[in-house]
Amino acid sequence: MSDSTNLATRMSRLGTESAFVVLGKARALEAQGRTIVHLEIGEPDFDTPKHVIDAGAEALRQGYTHYCPAPGLPELREAAGEFFGRTGRAAYPADRIVVTPGAKPIMFLAIMALCEEGDEVIYPDPGFPMYESITAFAGAKPVPVPLREGNDFRVDPDEVASLITDRTRMLILNSPHNPCGSALTRQDVEALADIAVRHDLVVLSDEMYWAIRYGGEHASISTVDGMADRTILLDGCSKTFAMTGWRLGFAALPPGLVEPVTRLIINAVSCTAAFTQRAALAALTGPWDEIDAMVEEFGRRRKVIVDGLNRIPGITCTEPRGAFYVFPNVTGLGATSERVAEHLLNEAGVAGLSGATFGAAGEGYLRLSYANSVDAIGSALEAIEASLPSLRTA
Ligand code: PLP
Repeated sequence: MSDSTNLATRMSRLGTESAFVVLGKARALEAQGRTIVHLEIGEPDFDTPKHVIDAGAEALRQGYTHYCPAPGLPELREAAGEFFGRTGRAAYPADRIVVTPGAKPIMFLAIMALCEEGDEVIYPDPGFPMYESITAFAGAKPVPVPLREGNDFRVDPDEVASLITDRTRMLILNSPHNPCGSALTRQDVEALADIAVRHDLVVLSDEMYWAIRYGGEHASISTVDGMADRTILLDGCSKTFAMTGWRLGFAALPPGLVEPVTRLIINAVSCTAAFTQRAALAALTGPWDEIDAMVEEFGRRRKVIVDGLNRIPGITCTEPRGAFYVFPNVTGLGATSERVAEHLLNEAGVAGLSGATFGAAGEGYLRLSYANSVDAIGSALEAIEASLPSLRTA
């Protein structure tokens, strides 16, 4: 008898995101009465700025409750193109921008539109798990480029060059970087752009965390000569404006990709919720003081968590340059990352992620999010240290 849930073979190539899996385990422990400090999930613990909420609520009252143009409201597309230009990226006209429900669909739709069976996509390892997963799902070959602690977890252009073949189609960059908190320098993006131009690659530049950085300019590959038209410049409201649940992403696309991605949007979701887009418009064009305050607070927490981790025997932690993650080296604890993460969840009540869930090169590390209060981070550090003797004797 045939089983109607027999899945298409392609589903075996589709991965998942460990943050959601660990969140589920942590919630199950909480349901049993345990107290868990959540350092696993990647979202700001701040509220969406009030003027953005007001704009969304007002839009609902004004009737932004219907279908709208598939690539986005014209006023938001225009504002997003200008926003890119004002924030250290190339400026784009409205007709190069598409809006999606969250930024993740940009990756999904662009890779689906561009990558053939057998094409190769170079992506950072460790890296956001969706890069590998979507590439494989599309039938293309994910090619990891390792990020090394000795190189501040930055993509090394020479290593990228060594991985190029005649099937390389796309290079994925993510700066500031999830999970390592690293950031590419201007020199890095220039060298990477040179490779992209020489080998006719499309670059997917994931700049979700561009606003959350601790000193220094944001180096966007879209601003390097010859790159604006071969870059998929991905951004969104989730992290910068603490709007993860609103589901609002946007991207500037190479000219030939706008129509195909719009067609995919029509097939998949029709359009992005119009009232959410009106809220995003208020976010992109509104005041910046709350974002400055959020980043300053992240900076304070970064210091607490980096200093605290470095005081724990067996753990070392470099200082991240952006985003709100630390990527401590736990090889000194003598157990795999997976084992350390499990131990911390079950014995210390601290939910974090094994670095290996971000790729093979993440083995030996953990990802901890410091999008939590200084008090919570302090108690997590104490609980981690207190729990380690039992890891060592296990
Ligand atoms: N890119 C990176 C590197 C991320 O960490 C995330 C979210 O965790 C996204 C993109 C997706 O953001 P969104 O929630 O808008 O889909």
